[in-house]
Amino acid sequence: MPELPEVQTICNELNEVLIGRELIGIESFRNNIVVFNSELVKGQTIIEVKRVAKYILIKLSKDQQIVVHLRMTGKLIFPIPDNYKGKYVRAKIMLDNHDEMIYDDVRCFGKIYVNNSEQTASLLAKLGVEPLSSNYNIDYLLEKSKYRRTEIKPFLMDQNIIVGIGNIYAQEILYHSKISPTRSVQSISKKEWAKIIKITREILLKAIECNGTTISDYRRVDDRTGEFQNFLQVYGKDKCPKCQSELVQIKQAGRSTRYCKVCQK
Ligand SMILES: [Zn+2]
Repeated sequence: MPELPEVQTICNELNEVLIGRELIGIESFRNNIVVFNSELVKGQTIIEVKRVAKYILIKLSKDQQIVVHLRMTGKLIFPIPDNYKGKYVRAKIMLDNHDEMIYDDVRCFGKIYVNNSEQTASLLAKLGVEPLSSNYNIDYLLEKSKYRRTEIKPFLMDQNIIVGIGNIYAQEILYHSKISPTRSVQSISKKEWAKIIKITREILLKAIECNGTTISDYRRVDDRTGEFQNFLQVYGKDKCPKCQSELVQIKQAGRSTRYCKVCQK
């Protein structure tokens, strides 16, 4: 699933190609994907593309937004490359000049909403803090972990606490922080939270610089892959790159976790 760096990359790239373009309409080929009235967007101009958590907000001229969540396998493709086969086209966003942006999704868990700003606010209301903002700080994490018995890895992935961190980046953050993913959040010291915050920022910024991580489905808007997979230390690996020990594989909250028992305490 695309996480913060992948969604940020997509937004950055869409910003370069979509600003000022006029919308002609949205055509959907699956009932459950697009939640909208396509008439609403007609004739509006795209003024900004912005990331909030793992959502892509395409802001329109008349206080409306197209809000996209890619979930597992969703992709926005624009401009369409010559070699694109178009097997899983679920929706088309039609633009001026006979251009179209394709929404492609093998598994169809993604969603496209056409909202006014009030509807968007209510969709995003329960989300936690952005990990690249100053709201992601020691006081906030101490407060949120005070009464919880959760392990640190599912805590970092809880979108109601912190947005944008998924299974890949949670494992990498804990490896670089030298903290075991099985630690209870109540056992994390102030100093360790400070380290987690610092490492989170470093890893997410580096991953954005690398245009995200491509393991299987994630692609940039022009269908190219990201590059951060070349920097992964534990996700999908067998051995610890530092001490060469075999990594331990466990399941936490239904998701697989790998970590080094020697380096992560
Ligand atoms: Zn190790």
